[in-house]
Amino acid sequence: MDHQTAEKRAAELRDLLNYYSRKYYVDDDPVVEDREYDMLQRELLTIEETYPDLRTPDSPTSRVGGSADGMFESVPHPVRMESLQDAFSEAELLDFDRRVHEAVDFAQYVVEPKIDGLSVSLEYENGVFVRGSTRGDGDVGEDVTANLRTVRAIPLRLTEALPYIEVRGEVYMPKQAFASLVAAQEEAGDKPFKNPRNAAAGSLRQKNPQVTASRKLDIFVFNIQRVEGAELRGHKQSLDYLRTLGFRTIPDYRRADTIADALERVREIGRLRGTLPYDIDGAVLKVDDFAARAELGSTAKFPKWAVAFKYPPEEKQTVLLDVEVAVGRTGVLTPTAILEPVLLAGTTVGRATLHNQDFIAERDIRIGDTVTVRKAGDIIPEVVKVDAHAPDSVPYLLPRTCPSCGAAVVREADEAAVRCVNPECPAQLLRNLIHFCSRGGMDMEGFGESVLEKLIESGFLHTAADLFRLDAQSIQTIEGFREKSAANLLEAAERAKQNGLERLLAALGIRHVGEKGAKLLASHFGSMDAIRASSVEEIAAIDGFGGVMAQSVFDFFALPETADLIGRLRDSGVRMTAVETVEDHRFAGMTFVLTGTLPTMTRAEASKIIERLGGKTASSVSKKTSWVLAGEDAGSKLQKAQTLGVPILTEEEFLKMCD
Ligand code: NAD
Repeated sequence: MDHQTAEKRAAELRDLLNYYSRKYYVDDDPVVEDREYDMLQRELLTIEETYPDLRTPDSPTSRVGGSADGMFESVPHPVRMESLQDAFSEAELLDFDRRVHEAVDFAQYVVEPKIDGLSVSLEYENGVFVRGSTRGDGDVGEDVTANLRTVRAIPLRLTEALPYIEVRGEVYMPKQAFASLVAAQEEAGDKPFKNPRNAAAGSLRQKNPQVTASRKLDIFVFNIQRVEGAELRGHKQSLDYLRTLGFRTIPDYRRADTIADALERVREIGRLRGTLPYDIDGAVLKVDDFAARAELGSTAKFPKWAVAFKYPPEEKQTVLLDVEVAVGRTGVLTPTAILEPVLLAGTTVGRATLHNQDFIAERDIRIGDTVTVRKAGDIIPEVVKVDAHAPDSVPYLLPRTCPSCGAAVVREADEAAVRCVNPECPAQLLRNLIHFCSRGGMDMEGFGESVLEKLIESGFLHTAADLFRLDAQSIQTIEGFREKSAANLLEAAERAKQNGLERLLAALGIRHVGEKGAKLLASHFGSMDAIRASSVEEIAAIDGFGGVMAQSVFDFFALPETADLIGRLRDSGVRMTAVETVEDHRFAGMTFVLTGTLPTMTRAEASKIIERLGGKTASSVSKKTSWVLAGEDAGSKLQKAQTLGVPILTEEEFLKMCD
């Protein structure tokens, strides 16, 4: 690759990796598999090694984790919470061993499973738990003490009253707790977490510790960061000691005398991987002896005395028994392979995604075939390839009529998807309404999949507008509904009427328009009527809108069905204007720091108000801070503000400033 191409690709990779990292670490909502992220990161690393001038100080290859986003107080980590170097093959582990032996004469390893959760630091003074924090960027994390206190496996008092100890561990959600949580989220119509890791992170980074308490988190402690009052020479010895103090340590840690023993142990953990009640994404090799570790040292990002071996996604062979076709929200027919059940990455897999007709045709997947299936990142299994066709098999084609309503399906020229375009199709109606009521849409509590299904079956719902015309009597004709539950539904619908344009647009499920697009549209046009009266060019002129998005919005509003639906929603009393149409920048150029517990609102609510009025919030106080908004129990930030002479506000004063 020449320099110019490398420069362009490096910039592209940086943008992509930064975006994926933000989704993963800050939003707890990953958008790609870990393997894909790791491979892109490798690609960037290779470019940076070939052309060192392309390495930027903020490159994702040199950064650990995410950053604290201001939701919690920040906690500095005096002992850096480092990341680990990766290895994707045994050859890379041998390279690691060679580097270790170049630096030190003798090294034994400890091999441990690598738990797929999130890293936390726990501090104890005189044997009592005083503080817990997330890793953050390795140097500064977030204070989540109150939430960590709810994790049963974290001892609040140790068996020995040591003057001081800081340990590091991995908080995770057991597979079973994850499965129950997702089932409950789906039932409630909420967006489910994608995997146990991001469920654990989302559950720990909660404003309300009661939510964390309800999430069945667990922990494995795997390191002593700092200790006063104990002399330890090696890793295995310190893990043994942690156990005696009452910690739940990393399971099954063992010493390996040679790299050959270590490799055997890595393979063994890999074989066990699927049977464990928690997710692991690798095995970690660590040099045991602390003196050797000190000699090896660290890079800016990771210690040179440890390496994480990442297992490849697991693959198995099975038979494709049938293809099931479902109709999605936008009418897209989605084929799913029904498989002879096979044990894969710890779960029995009986279904796998086939994506669309092109995916099936490219691999020539047929019913009866012997196929290879893969579970990547323990998320959705997919058919990777066909190993053998069944005798007398024929190429598989998606049906030409909708399996739900029987209407003819269409395939647009530039699309892989085949769709049912019948607006009355009941399968589409259900998917549409699930989306309409979801947290990303109108956020109507109680209107989950099974409730909507029953309401459709009973003939109460034909369009989204009917949600706002339900009455208690009709709802109670459905099995399982009493006066109270019916009243709850009606109340949720009543509240949603006032949501405003932004949410309504997101709920309508316009193709290519997500929550962000809906926000842009709402703040630009201010009302439904203004959007409907605009041209494609006017929509495309919105900053952040592409041509495809604009065309999709325009086409959506040009449909007679849309006009009809909007009319009905309006008649049902649903608000058609944006909630905040007035532009008010009174806090422009000002930075606020929030600290302590405010009497009537949460810090997140106060931040929203500040941002809406053009201001910014920051997590630490400096001379540049314009105001510190302080509530009860405000700590070091308040003191710092006083020292620096930064003006301090009470909630009451703040609210006066905002009218
Ligand atoms: P890492 O996960 O590869 O390794 C470091 C972490 O391993 C430590 O922070 C520690 O918490 C954990 N760990 C678990 N068991 C351990 C043990 N026994 N000993 C020591 N550490 C142990 O590195 P990272 O910096 O946390 O993040 C990179 C990971 O995050 C990669 O797996 C990457 O794929 C994933 N990621 C994914 C996306 C995405 O979009 N899918 C985005 C960003 C990062």
